[in-house]
Amino acid sequence: MIHQCGPHIFNTDRRDVWKYVKRFAQFRPFVNRVKAHTNRGIFSLPINLHTINQFFGKSFNPTEAREFVASLGEKSIGEPVSFEEQALKFLGRELYETFFYGYAKKQWGCEPSELPASLLKRLPIRFSYDDSYYNTRFQGIPAQGYSEMVRRILEHERISIRLNARYERSDGHKFDHVFHTGPLDAFLEFKPTIAPRNKRVRPCSQPALPNEYGT
Ligand SMILES: Cc1cc2nc3c(=O)[nH]c(=O)nc-3n(C[C@H](O)[C@H](O)[C@H](O)COP(=O)(O)OP(=O)(O)OC[C@H]3O[C@@H](n4cnc5c(N)ncnc54)[C@H](O)[C@@H]3O)c2cc1C
Repeated sequence: MIHQCGPHIFNTDRRDVWKYVKRFAQFRPFVNRVKAHTNRGIFSLPINLHTINQFFGKSFNPTEAREFVASLGEKSIGEPVSFEEQALKFLGRELYETFFYGYAKKQWGCEPSELPASLLKRLPIRFSYDDSYYNTRFQGIPAQGYSEMVRRILEHERISIRLNARYERSDGHKFDHVFHTGPLDAFLEFKPTIAPRNKRVRPCSQPALPNEYGT
């Protein structure tokens, strides 16, 4: 199957969501196992025990790997104020520059030193050989494609569809509830409604890309 808009793997941790979508599609089992092409070679991503052993030419067990990665962190950094400092503090420069710098820059469209540390609060690396990209329990690809699945979902007596109808914020009063799935900045008419928490950080947009930072 060719996914015209880039490969999409359905994944969720919620059993009820998984049960719901399976009413409308047959899912092919698929676990997303991603490889990163770096200037040091091809590695499994997110960083897991195999990545660490391969990258540093070691054969650590989980405990040894955890201790080793902890030893790589830059000790001079006290309370990290940016994504970059957070990564350097917990992973060290080699892992940060190889796996995080370019990825974060591309995803957020700005320098990782301008992003808040909170984006990398949880250490997104694993000390096991689990190499699934997602942390979620249920993953798969609808055998007949997403369009067919959505078409079946929409075949419901209480769902009506209006195509080529632009939703304006002023339409809101016509409905009891509105779930807006367009871009948030457009919905807010590009007004800076939410002030950045950290004044050092300038707001930058995030494309809808898959990532393992829980964002
Ligand atoms: C290359 C790539 C790979 C990805 N892979 C995965 C993956 O494997 N698994 C995964 O879970 N996620 C993946 N994602 C992320 C996933 O595609 C997005 O999270 C998802 O498409 C977001 O869906 P959405 O309905 O919230 O927004 P969108 O898909 O952006 O839909 C919003 C819709 O609202 C319409 N709209 C906007 N403004 C208005 C308005 N004023 N009035 C009316 N309509 C409006 C837009 O035209 C658009 O059709 C991937 C993304 C990319 C780019």
